[in-house]
Amino acid sequence: MSHELQELKTHLAELSDINAIAALLGWDQSSIMPAGAGEGRGRQIAYISRLSHEKFTSPTIGRLLDTLQKQAESWNPDSVDAALVRITAKDYAQATRVPVEFVSAFSEHTNHSYMTWAAARPANDFRSVVPVLEKTVELSRQLSRYQGEGAHIADALIDVSDSGMTVATLRPLFTTLRESLVPLVERIVAHAPIDDSALRGPFPIQAQLDYAAKLAERLGYDMNRGRLDTAPHPFCAPLHYGDVRITTRARVDDLGDSLFSVIHEVGHAMYEQGVAKELEGTPLAAGTSSGVHESQSRLWENIVGRSKSFWQHYYPELQATFPAQLGHVSVETFYRAINKVSRSLIRTDADEVTYNLHVIVRFELELELLEGTLAVKDLAEVWQERYQQALGIAPTDDKDGVLQDIHWYAGTVGGAFQGYTIGNIMSAQIYEAALAKDASIAPAIARGDYKPLLTWLQTHLYATGRRYDAPTTFKRVTGQELSIEPYFRYLNSKYAELYSL
Ligand code: ZN
Repeated sequence: MSHELQELKTHLAELSDINAIAALLGWDQSSIMPAGAGEGRGRQIAYISRLSHEKFTSPTIGRLLDTLQKQAESWNPDSVDAALVRITAKDYAQATRVPVEFVSAFSEHTNHSYMTWAAARPANDFRSVVPVLEKTVELSRQLSRYQGEGAHIADALIDVSDSGMTVATLRPLFTTLRESLVPLVERIVAHAPIDDSALRGPFPIQAQLDYAAKLAERLGYDMNRGRLDTAPHPFCAPLHYGDVRITTRARVDDLGDSLFSVIHEVGHAMYEQGVAKELEGTPLAAGTSSGVHESQSRLWENIVGRSKSFWQHYYPELQATFPAQLGHVSVETFYRAINKVSRSLIRTDADEVTYNLHVIVRFELELELLEGTLAVKDLAEVWQERYQQALGIAPTDDKDGVLQDIHWYAGTVGGAFQGYTIGNIMSAQIYEAALAKDASIAPAIARGDYKPLLTWLQTHLYATGRRYDAPTTFKRVTGQELSIEPYFRYLNSKYAELYSL
């Protein structure tokens, strides 16, 4: 190993410790921190983030990367070291291309925008956010121009969280998916709705959390390198190799909320826990993109966790945990209840079939805002039209419409939503590939044993971390290009059976 590579690795290991400290402060802030600690914690996180940014963007790192990029021309391009130099140089370019004054102006604007939205949403007052959101669109365009030359103004914003993905590849995929989903939803809602009253309980909170923790471990989440806590919004906090935490929430009158939040976050966490130990202390030690990450939370939550075969094995234990509430409810009734489809206004409450329509509406709107073909002042009205077209239902209030998600009001317009749907599409294709490539997985699942599936995913997907970008990672895992067909095949066969279509 050259001494420059050794030196770079030493700097990166220090940075990864600094970032883990920042992430731990963030986990605490979003879970158990007392409300009064907010101001001081904001200061502490800002300090650590500035320290990390200054260390990473220092000229020393730039010089090392210049030298190493030349050295790497003679290395095996598929080696870990070559990937390390490549990805670190990309991160470095991303972090240094944007002028410091712009970063602080944008962050100041984001604070203002968030506070304006936080007041406007309960007041159902879209008009008060219009000037703020107009400025966000302008700043997002500016940021995209700093980040690089994409064919589309949104490409650079998408690339930050879904490296290698572009509007040119995503738009046709999403359009085909929308055209396939709209008629499927129509056929489903023409049938009598599923009765999901079995999930209403009441279910004591602590018993739900205890069961969820047991289930997480059973699926393969390593509690020795993780823990489960409660938080208002469930999330996964990957701190470092030995510490990948998850949070959940529970409601007395909705058993599905805690169960599937936990399985979702377990999917994210098992991906992070599965990254190879040899990548520890480098920027490669993380999931490769938000879409690939979401493919794993969705694979475990929906394809595994909402399957009949899963509950044929796990339901008796759930019944034993809640005998008064579920003792008289059959596994078939439970399975149907957790897969109920209905037209709804709120993305985060949506079922598996309608969910992507919520995302696609947002993706298309943000592209139009960035292109300048849609004006912010018309956004609330156009939102209602698009919901009517895509979901057959439209909000009467903006708080259940254009004001419902935090994303556009606490970050950029563009780059935030596509990952959810990319993840859903990928989840089915990756699952199909696993079953096709390893003949031991399907019979094990039929016995309620998910270990061979997890092992296959660890070996072929989780272990490589950020060594490859999203399209390359996906191709290595599946041997295919991204396509909606496996996903649509999965939805069609599952819901045709559930709703006798
Ligand atoms: Zn997720």
